[in-house]
Amino acid sequence: MEIQKLKAQSAIVTGGDSGIGKGVALALAEAGANVTVNYNHNLQHANEVVEEIKSIGSKAIAVKADVSKEHDVQNMFAQHLNAFGSLDILVNNAGLQKDAKFVDMSLEDWNTVISINLTGQFLCSREAAKLFIQQGIREGISKAAGKIICMSSVHEVIPWAGHVNYAASKGGVNLFMKSIAQELAPQKIRVVGIGPGAIQTPINKEAWETPEALEKLLTLIPYNRIGQPDDIGRLAAWLASDDADYITGTTVFSDGGMTLYPGFADNG
Ligand code: NAD
Repeated sequence: MEIQKLKAQSAIVTGGDSGIGKGVALALAEAGANVTVNYNHNLQHANEVVEEIKSIGSKAIAVKADVSKEHDVQNMFAQHLNAFGSLDILVNNAGLQKDAKFVDMSLEDWNTVISINLTGQFLCSREAAKLFIQQGIREGISKAAGKIICMSSVHEVIPWAGHVNYAASKGGVNLFMKSIAQELAPQKIRVVGIGPGAIQTPINKEAWETPEALEKLLTLIPYNRIGQPDDIGRLAAWLASDDADYITGTTVFSDGGMTLYPGFADNG
């Protein structure tokens, strides 16, 4: 069996009941971590992830919380501590899209996306940072006092017409991540971003559910395949481990080359 690089550690994964969050929760568990699987609506899916984690040999609980609500977030951290006693890893994964042409975009849809994708990361990271500072380094467990992983997107750098609320939220995540990384590094807290390209999950179903849509999508991906939640899960587990102990304040893209301006591949 592979060495479990996150043995005796525990993690909170927001939106851990679906897609990338599920892939991350399972990969952290494979690496030895106990996991709080956060969900907002789908208890059944969260319970399925919990059972899968238990079958891997780690512990898990499902906790309901809307990451954009301060009280929910504080309650989620309390439940995690009650179950596992400490926290080593936060994965800010929860996110959604509410797409519209810019001129048709409602204030409600703008606010919803910013409050879940960006403010949610603020609320969860603040609770995690307070806890990591209070705990300090747990000798023999990890070289860092804590690790925060911010799920961003290739759209933290690629503009996206028709999705300006989403692109603005992810651009915001980029400088949020870098700024708290700068502030928290002296306390030995690492903060990193992950920038997925197109990963096959419910969020972008219309981009891969028909052969025509998938073919069009693949023109944007030099590596010529759609990503899977496990691609991101294994990256997150590595970034949370001491193998990545010198990495903080940067986004690692896992995108099959989507950020390589594929339109220029044939001389532009
Ligand atoms: P998904 O729809 O499968 O998962 C999103 C998760 O976020 C769900 O579990 C959902 O319940 C949760 N969520 C939404 N609002 C919430 C709230 N208020 N409180 C708590 N949880 C909430 O989609 P996904 O593709 O797995 O997306 C996960 C993350 O990855 C998102 O931040 C998304 O922006 C990012 N991302 C996805 C892709 C992709 O191609 N799939 C690419 C780049 C970035």
